[in-house]
Amino acid sequence: MSLPRGGAPEKAVPFLAPGAVLGVLGGGQLGRMFAQAAQRAGYEVVVLEPDADTPAAQVTRRHLRHAYDDPAGLRQLARLARAATIEFENVPAAALEWLDGHLSLAPHAPAVAVCQDRAQEKALFDSLAVGCAPHALVGSQADCLAAAQRELFPGILKTRRMGYDGKGQMVVRAAQDLAQAWRALGEVECVLERRLQLACELSVVLARGADGAMVHFPPQRNVHRDGILFSSTAAAGVVAEPLAARAVAAARRIAEGLGYVGVLCVEFFVTEQGELVANEMAPRPHNSGHHTIDSCEHSQFDLQWRCLVGAPLPPPRQHSAALMLNLLGDLWLDATGAQREPDWRPLLALPGAHLHLYGKHQPRRGRKMGHLTLTAPSLVEAEQAARAACDLLGLPGL
Ligand code: ADP
Ligand code: MG
Repeated sequence: MSLPRGGAPEKAVPFLAPGAVLGVLGGGQLGRMFAQAAQRAGYEVVVLEPDADTPAAQVTRRHLRHAYDDPAGLRQLARLARAATIEFENVPAAALEWLDGHLSLAPHAPAVAVCQDRAQEKALFDSLAVGCAPHALVGSQADCLAAAQRELFPGILKTRRMGYDGKGQMVVRAAQDLAQAWRALGEVECVLERRLQLACELSVVLARGADGAMVHFPPQRNVHRDGILFSSTAAAGVVAEPLAARAVAAARRIAEGLGYVGVLCVEFFVTEQGELVANEMAPRPHNSGHHTIDSCEHSQFDLQWRCLVGAPLPPPRQHSAALMLNLLGDLWLDATGAQREPDWRPLLALPGAHLHLYGKHQPRRGRKMGHLTLTAPSLVEAEQAARAACDLLGLPGL
């Protein structure tokens, strides 16, 4: 398999001054927070997104309502915007390749293509000596038989493409259950991973400019429930050294290896044996980095627009301990499924509470409607406020 090669001569991009129009492909909450950050600095943002009334389109003046691969929409975007980014990695590769030739795109199309496919991601990790979970590719009955011979059980079968928030995944307890799980996932190209015993999960968000300059946030510790991010905690000592330094070094190696430009997040597992294992990566700001809006001098979205316009990348100093809780649609639904509104007032009374709602009108179980970040001078205080928030929201504790 050919992977995009790093090491190409880095070039300085011309600086796009405030006032320039920046494009974003995708209309979700990540696009909304990108637009809010870029607009604050005086940039104008245009969203390419087929759906009406999406989180990003609600906060921007221009919305091109086209499919991501509609040539008419892409042409308009290239005409309006000087540079563009993505808020969602599953934009068709051909659309990104076309755009890459017509405006300044960050991240570049080949790097996004790797992030669209779990198999290519793992091949990249392997090629850079970044460890990942033992795995096998499963795309046929014969692959099921071959994988069944390997020590990958209990395992998790994941579709190679389009999975998110635990979707497109099935636990496979034993070898004899593999073929059935593959059928249940629609007989598409999959990766079977051994299910690891995890001590914890963490992620690193970094930004790399077109000139090769790179900065990173301190790693945050993540807790997932039912395959969906529940909380991220970022504070001194939350990820102990030397683990934190190893994770940062691995993430930087990945960005270098890809010749990456933009914000990149790498998710890691830490096994009970203390091994650091790369799980997956996202070619964009990440849910686990949302706390940076309230806890750091520059957020992951600030670094995203800075990468795009060729601005300097300041090392993002964290000024507050932070704990972020995702607010899922479940909070808007009672036991009978009837819609209700969470009681925000007492939540807003908590010290250091920052409420972010994405403007989504339809709550669904597991749907990300917003997040709440609790900032504080110390981890203990942030956790205390987060525990109070969980109590008020009726969420199981931290
Ligand atoms: P998604 O794209 O949905 O985020 P992930 O591959 O990151 O998919 O899986 C979601 C979560 O499921 C992980 O954060 C982790 O909690 C759990 N998980 C996934 N793969 C494994 C594995 N091989 N071993 C143990 N837990 C896993
Ligand atoms: Mg994940």
